[in-house]
Amino acid sequence: MPYKHFSNHMEFARTYPDIADIEVLVAEKGTIGKGPGLSTKQYHNENMVGFVPCSHPTCHNGGLNLAQIIHEMEARKQDRFTGVRMCTGELQGHQHCPNEFHVTVKIKYAE
Ligand SMILES: [Zn+2]
Repeated sequence: MPYKHFSNHMEFARTYPDIADIEVLVAEKGTIGKGPGLSTKQYHNENMVGFVPCSHPTCHNGGLNLAQIIHEMEARKQDRFTGVRMCTGELQGHQHCPNEFHVTVKIKYAE
C-alpha cells in the first residue's frame, strides 16, 4: 500500500503540516538480545523518525514502520492509536524476527 513516506523530523514537518503536535511511545519487546522489555523510545515533532530499527542482534532490516501508522491515522484524522506490530525483519534461515513493538501515538491536528 502506498503511503506518505518520511525518514526524519524535517521531512515529517513538510509531509504533515496539518499535524500540530505528535507524541509517540514505542516499547520494543523480545526474548533475545537485551532481555524482555528491550527499550522504550519516545518521539515527538522534534525527533520524529519514519522507521524504528529492531534491536535484535541477528535481525535483518527489521523494525517498525512508524511512517505507515501515521499515514493511516492522518488519512482518517484519527487522534489516538495503540497497537502491537511484529518486527518486519528476518533472522538467519528466513525465520521471522520474534520482536514486537507496542506503539502508542497521540496526534493533535492543526485547526
Ligand atoms: Zn527484528
